[in-house]
Amino acid sequence: MSTMPELAEVELARRIWATAEGESISSITSNKDARIFRDLPAAALPALVGKTMTSSTHHGKRMYFTFDHDWHLEVHLGMSGKVYCAPPDYEERKHDHLILRTPSYTLVLNDYRMFGRVMLHEGDSPWESLPPSPLSRRFNQAHVRSIIERRPKKILKGALLDQSLFPGVGNWMADEICWRLGALPDIALGSLSPERLYEEVKFVCKGAIKHVADKNQDRIAPPEEAGFAAGGYVAQVPPTTWLFQHRWKKGGLCPTCHCELERGTIATRTTAWCPQCQTAYPKK
Ligand SMILES: [Zn+2]
Repeated sequence: MSTMPELAEVELARRIWATAEGESISSITSNKDARIFRDLPAAALPALVGKTMTSSTHHGKRMYFTFDHDWHLEVHLGMSGKVYCAPPDYEERKHDHLILRTPSYTLVLNDYRMFGRVMLHEGDSPWESLPPSPLSRRFNQAHVRSIIERRPKKILKGALLDQSLFPGVGNWMADEICWRLGALPDIALGSLSPERLYEEVKFVCKGAIKHVADKNQDRIAPPEEAGFAAGGYVAQVPPTTWLFQHRWKKGGLCPTCHCELERGTIATRTTAWCPQCQTAYPKK
C-alpha cells in the first residue's frame, strides 16, 4: 500500500530526523545545483554548522527543524523525497542532496525527482504565519465556519485538498472525511454544517497521526538506518473500519454498508466514495 505524504506521513518523517534533537551539526554536504534548493539563498546552509537541533515540528506537508531556537530548516518531501537517519559513518549515495552530520547520526534527504524543497528561516517561527493546521488549537469551529462562509460554492473535495484551508490533508484523507460526513465529494461546501465538518476533519487528522505516525514509530529507531520515503510503504495503516483500506482495491467495499465503492476523478484526483452512504444532502 503506498501513500503520498500527507500530514501523518510527514509527521513520521519529522520524527525520523528528530532522533538527532540535542545534537549539534558537525558538517553539511549539499548539492547546491539540486532543484530542491531553488528557494534557498545560496551558501546559506553552512550557517547551521555548530548549531544544535533544539526542537522540530510539522505543519501540513512541511517539516521544520529548529537549531539554536531561532534557525528553522524547512523541508518538503515533494513526490519522491526520502529522509533517513543513519549511523555517523554513512556513505553518500546517488540523489542524496542534503546530508547533515552530528556526532551520533547522519541525517539524509534523498530526492531523485526533486519536487521536494528546502528552505532556511531565521527569527520567528515561520509556521505561525501559515493557515492553522487542523491539529492546532487555532483550527476551531469558528475557523471552519469562516472557511465555509467565504466559499459556499467550492466543491468539498477540492476545498479539502486546498493547502491554504486544510493544510496536510491529501487525497486519502479527503476521501475519508467525505465518507465520514456522508457527503458526496463533489457537493458544494455550503451544504455542510461547520460543526460536522470540523468534527470529521479533526477525527481523521488525529486518527491519521495515531494510526500512521504513532504506530510506525518502530521504523525510526537507530542505530539501524531508518527512513521514510514519499510514496513509500507504511507497515501500519488505519483499521478496516476506515475507508482507507478499501479505497485502493478494485471491487473494494464500503466498511459500513458493504456495497461496492465508486471511483472517479474529482478535483483532478482519483476519488473513491460509497454510493449508498454518501449523498448530496448529508446530515447536518
Ligand atoms: Zn456505504
